[in-house]
Amino acid sequence: MTEVTPSGSASKRPAISFEFFPPKTAEMELGLWDTIKRLAPLTPSFVSVTYGAGGSTRERTHSTIARILAETELLPAAHLTCVGAAQGEIDDIVGRYYELGVRHIVALRGDPPGGIGTPFSTHPDGYQTSADLVAGIKRQHGDIEVSVSAYPEKHPESRDFDADIDVLKAKVDAGATRAITQVFFDNDLYFRYLDRVRARGISIPVVPGIMPMHNFKQARNFVTRAGTTVPSWLAEKFDGLDDDPDTRKLVAATVAAGQVQKLARHGVDTFHFYTMNRADLVFAISHLLGIRPAGAQKAA
Ligand code: FAD
Repeated sequence: MTEVTPSGSASKRPAISFEFFPPKTAEMELGLWDTIKRLAPLTPSFVSVTYGAGGSTRERTHSTIARILAETELLPAAHLTCVGAAQGEIDDIVGRYYELGVRHIVALRGDPPGGIGTPFSTHPDGYQTSADLVAGIKRQHGDIEVSVSAYPEKHPESRDFDADIDVLKAKVDAGATRAITQVFFDNDLYFRYLDRVRARGISIPVVPGIMPMHNFKQARNFVTRAGTTVPSWLAEKFDGLDDDPDTRKLVAATVAAGQVQKLARHGVDTFHFYTMNRADLVFAISHLLGIRPAGAQKAA
């Protein structure tokens, strides 16, 4: 098993980043902003905002990013996919972000417009692959930092790991400088994947994506469709808790805290949290990693 420092930094305090999704309603927006206010003092390296399947949240992603820039000190990263738009439209989106001051994009191919499991197609005049999108962004503005996805269990559409890592290599060759992984629950999968990636000569940070399971059943359905294995030991921990959200929350925090602490013990020093727009578990897990709000004193 590899000893890893995904960021290559020797800093004691792990670097963290948070992922949010653009809120659909005014009430969800209030919830997101409570979350942002609670998590911002933890001084994440960046916060990212997802882009709905098929580009469905284009304007909401943009307005969430704009508000983060206007009202906080946080550095936002905008997710962007190739789906449902011609290259010119995507380039315009990138241009608008640049004018706003955004200097980080998470560039993705996106899911097939017909849903996961259906054949992938994009706009005939669109970017056809994530690597094309990365190259397009870098051509437009070389100073935009581009992050991409990585799949410790390989992407469900990948023939095998070699084919999967070919795609990661193409994205890195096009200018990506960070990969963020799909959620995983078995750390060995991450370390084995990292061994494969490093063996291919890919040296960029491969940051583990961590998802605290606030609602286990719902999250299980969602992550399983995206190709993540949910081990039986994990499912057993949530057995009998369907009607007990308080205990579920404690269990979810314990499981995710155990996962990140084990990763940290093996030298992982950078984590990306899928927050699901909720602060409590992510705040607690960050605390266990030794992260304190800016200005707060750490106990001696
Ligand atoms: P890629 O890494 O480009 O490719 C995935 C797989 O597709 C490859 O491994 C390969 O099997 C196949 N493939 C791709 N190109 C080729 C090719 N040229 N030849 C052969 N096979 C190929 N989705 C959203 O809609 N919005 C988001 O905001 C969003 N954020 C995400 C953030 C992260 C960190 C992750 C891990 C995923 C995110 N997704 C998002 C999901 C993502 O869009 C889907 O998993 C999608 O199916 C693949 O997009 P990708 O960029 O990860 O694909």
